Amino acid sequence: MTIHHTPTELELFRTCTIISLGNGQRTRFWHDRWLQGKSPKEIAPDLYKLTWRKNENVAASLTNGQWKRGLRRLSTTEEINQYVELWGLVREVQLGDQPDDIAWRFLANGMYSLSLAFLLQFVGAFTDHDWPRLWASKAENKCMFFGWLFLQNKLWTADRILKHGGQTNATCSLCCSTAETVSQMMATCSYAMQVWNSFAANNYRRLKRWWTSMIGTVGTQASKQTEQAVIYIAWSIWKERCRRVFDSKALNVPQLMALIKQDIHNWHTVHNLWEE
Ligand SMILES: [Zn+2]
Repeated sequence: MTIHHTPTELELFRTCTIISLGNGQRTRFWHDRWLQGKSPKEIAPDLYKLTWRKNENVAASLTNGQWKRGLRRLSTTEEINQYVELWGLVREVQLGDQPDDIAWRFLANGMYSLSLAFLLQFVGAFTDHDWPRLWASKAENKCMFFGWLFLQNKLWTADRILKHGGQTNATCSLCCSTAETVSQMMATCSYAMQVWNSFAANNYRRLKRWWTSMIGTVGTQASKQTEQAVIYIAWSIWKERCRRVFDSKALNVPQLMALIKQDIHNWHTVHNLWEE
């Protein structure tokens, strides 16, 4: 699937992500921020204007110094300075065997209100889940975006923060008894299970299979509603977790269930207004 996006969306994407370079196949040499958190276009804007190969990936650009093609025309002192700086950084780069990885620049409950158009451009990169179905679900963009991060195990839960060298309390703030991971927090945690049990049987195996088994087969009106409920419940469990970690406030299960129902009710109210 090929998805077209505007330069603004691409720029937003690049602002929100950090790339850790692997084999250099998925990363654009000039445009992506893969070189100590910056893009070569930012480090050397004048060279970017001169280069002949503006859209190649890092792997191709590094082969036989391809990125220098067109740069023999550099003439001003500023261009030469930019060349020396970029050359010095590029010289240190070693490509690996693993695919390049994209991580989110913002943490936890930071920045969810991104446009759906911005989200859609990623769908093609992750084909091991029915992502178009997720994007078509009856939920607010922030909730779908949450679902998208969640299903890829990209939420900043305690295990992930600690693994990346950050400091946090390792224990799940919902049940206060086991170590926090995405699957623990969402599926096997005693608090989360109470929330889910108010709704449906909780048969956790693996995140994506679990998600699909919760929302059922595609196409029926009932499955759309179930899917919506699953998204709002999962999103609310995560919000409750963040409420406890960041605001030191807590809701009990009936209070959270009331909020979830209110969220879904609000979605229908807004949606019906738009359809009239
Ligand atoms: Zn827990």
